Amino acid sequence: MSESNDDLQELIAGWDGVAVVARRDRPTGAWMFIALHDDTLGRPTGGTRMKPYPSPAAALRDAMRLAEGMTHKWAAVGGPFGGGKAVIAPPGPLAEQERRALLLRYGGLVDSLHGSFATGEDLGTTVEDMAVIAEATRHVMGAHGGGGKPIDPGPFTARGVFHGIAAAVHHLDGGGLAGRTVLVQGVGDVGAPLARLLRTTGARLLLADLDGGRAAALAAELGGEPDCRVIPADQVFDTECDVYSPCAVGQVVNAETVPRLRCRAVAGSANNQLRETADADRLHHRGILYAPDYLINGGGALAFGLIELGVTDPRELFARVEALGDSLVEIFAEAADRDESPLAATHRRVERVLADGRAARAGAAVAT
Ligand code: NAD
Repeated sequence: MSESNDDLQELIAGWDGVAVVARRDRPTGAWMFIALHDDTLGRPTGGTRMKPYPSPAAALRDAMRLAEGMTHKWAAVGGPFGGGKAVIAPPGPLAEQERRALLLRYGGLVDSLHGSFATGEDLGTTVEDMAVIAEATRHVMGAHGGGGKPIDPGPFTARGVFHGIAAAVHHLDGGGLAGRTVLVQGVGDVGAPLARLLRTTGARLLLADLDGGRAAALAAELGGEPDCRVIPADQVFDTECDVYSPCAVGQVVNAETVPRLRCRAVAGSANNQLRETADADRLHHRGILYAPDYLINGGGALAFGLIELGVTDPRELFARVEALGDSLVEIFAEAADRDESPLAATHRRVERVLADGRAARAGAAVAT
């Protein structure tokens, strides 16, 4: 890929977003891009990704793509936020002090937008990084929880996925989770609390993790065999279960794996579960119900956003996250009526929500 400025110009000229903020950090040579895609539903809000890219244009392209994804995600989960995302592209590894100073300068850049963008952790950044950025701006989500401890989004995300799985099982045959077999792939920050929640319902669990010890420890904690079993990570796609819950990595649903799946539903937290959009149709044609990833895994983002807006009552936060299950009930029903994938129904819902938001804004502008 070319590194010329023309690429940046071309990208910006061809983008339908609100604005792009760009800065080159002289001391480190890093590029910083904040892509503000859409502010129809609220201020653009999204994570800050940090990794080296082959060129500034590649970094900007990623920021734009991710910001657009956030517009869809917020509209799908019902968060009063717009789509935005930031990318910090250092030229290579940074020493600890260099990295800290870069993050502080990035915080200054975010602060200079006076609240037009709020951010949180993403690939390549940690809650500790967010605490550093928060020294320079207050527009950081989840930097500080109760007692000054960073908030962990995992349990909120897990709660949303749990209700999404319940919605999927109920859609399939009207029943509950007791006695159903759920295969959780990846028992980390999201998968472990999800497994604990599922166990409280009497669901049977199959746990798979590249870190076999982690899966074994969780299985033992949750009662062990026969209701909670570890399976090898490479047998996930060939193992019979009611629900396959990808909670590890993306692109696990693809042309090679869909024919192998022996489940009735795919519902998990992993981002970008599909390798391509056509994979949603592949699942649909096989009669496997798919809970679109960017809807079912929105619990953590939604909770962080609401906390940022001043919602602190955990009951209210969990109620809003649990409502993701209700949204999925509607999506599954709409998709079934039209004999289409739930992904198509979710896309349509997003377009509807954004169109309503634009109409409301236009109406408010006329009224003033
Ligand atoms: P994590 O790193 O805490 O846990 C991932 C677990 O998956 C680890 O135990 C790892 O060993 C295991 N793993 C990795 N590759 C695997 C494979 N091929 N097969 C089996 N196990 C594998 O991550 P997390 O925070 O729990 O996030 C899990 C997924 O959910 C990621 O795709 C993440 O992007 C997505 N997600 C997370 C959140 C959140 O709140 N943490 C929110 C939205 C989406």
